[in-house]
Amino acid sequence: AHLARIDAVDEKVHAFLHVDREGALAQARAVDAKREAGEKLGPLAGVPLALKDIFTTQDMPTTVGSKILEGWVPPYDATLTKKLKAADVVILGKTNMDEFAMGSSTENSAYGPTGNPWDLTRIPGGSGGGSAAALASFEAPLAIGTDTGGSIRQPAAVTGTVGVKPTYGGVSRYGMVAFSSSLDQGGPCARTVLDAALLHEVIAGHDPMDSTSIDAPVPPVVEAARNGSVQGMRVGVVKQFAGEGYQAGVVQRFNESVELLKSLGATVVELDCPSFDLALSAYYLIAPSECSSNLARFDAMRYGLRVGDDGTRSAEDVTALTREAGFGDEVKRRIILGTYALSSGYYDAYYGSAQKVRTLITQDFEKAFEQVDVIVSPTTPTTAFPIGERADDPMAMYLADLCTIPTNLAGNSAMSLPCGLAPEDGLPVGLQIIAPAMKDDRLYKVGAAVE
Ligand code: GLN
Repeated sequence: AHLARIDAVDEKVHAFLHVDREGALAQARAVDAKREAGEKLGPLAGVPLALKDIFTTQDMPTTVGSKILEGWVPPYDATLTKKLKAADVVILGKTNMDEFAMGSSTENSAYGPTGNPWDLTRIPGGSGGGSAAALASFEAPLAIGTDTGGSIRQPAAVTGTVGVKPTYGGVSRYGMVAFSSSLDQGGPCARTVLDAALLHEVIAGHDPMDSTSIDAPVPPVVEAARNGSVQGMRVGVVKQFAGEGYQAGVVQRFNESVELLKSLGATVVELDCPSFDLALSAYYLIAPSECSSNLARFDAMRYGLRVGDDGTRSAEDVTALTREAGFGDEVKRRIILGTYALSSGYYDAYYGSAQKVRTLITQDFEKAFEQVDVIVSPTTPTTAFPIGERADDPMAMYLADLCTIPTNLAGNSAMSLPCGLAPEDGLPVGLQIIAPAMKDDRLYKVGAAVE
């Protein structure tokens, strides 16, 4: 049924970069055979899923939305891919994304944009716009995203779906193509809070192949999602997550959510987190710095595209020609920015300062979580904007992640879930819930209560 739905709508939506029809049917049949043989089935047996094209898959290409990896089929499965297979999930294919997960609209994909199923002329968010669009268009009931600065939560918000950025280290990054390693985190995307929790439990947990993976039990997310409640909870509203640039309908739906939390028995506390105002600036130094180092591996020798290798050119020239042809504008912008910020003489002024700001943000969160159990905010300041509107204005694009970035810098957990439609344009609005590190279960407890 999901393959038929993909056939019917994906030409317009363009959520998928690759659909693995044969593989999906074979996996589904294998589940049936197991069931008939009375064998033990995985926890998500037979449930179809759309996988962001940033996770390596042995039996499908992995492009990361870039021409530089066009046609590359990895020799190994990411830990997350392996866990999905072990849970008997049926992987339908790989979803579209901003190139190397850099963007907030999926317009930076080298393979063309994805449409928002609510209005195909608008963006589905990014970088995980393909995964969110697949859910919103009913092409898949579950999807996987990655969130470096908001790429799970912002697409969830603008497509009316649920997305969770787990605690940093909660889901293995082994086999997840690196953008900014100290921020990148894979996580579940779904249409309901409980569905997200069921997927979260399958993909989370310690992995010796990832040195930053947390060696501790997975927070009890499914139990929390089945027992939604905010009775007696302290909920924080941060004053920095408001003001200029926030759309009226987004603010209205957010305020209604705060009232709903109160009526369900929560106490609302106003919080001051002054360092959050610096989060965007710090992020756009740290993320490009790490990316400039991570993307150095795309040298035309190891994988993917190779341009100009005609026997007359040096290896350096082939690398340069390949990068020129294979990387898009936003990726080049970030590599240049990151290389500059890390260069001797500028390192302390830029990268060093950004790391200090990161510590201040973490401290603001620590102080906040002495007073409250969770923090709530709008996920993103506006609803889905038209395709093309911000494409030539990187600063305007970066503002989409104003409310999501502090969480990545601090490494804690956050969810976005739908909280109604904005009256002025009828488009979905996202409510963000933020919890301390390794308290991901609180997101589901609160999310299930207000869903
Ligand atoms: N939009 C942000 C960026 O462009 C976040 C991307 C992400 O979370 N992968 O970096």
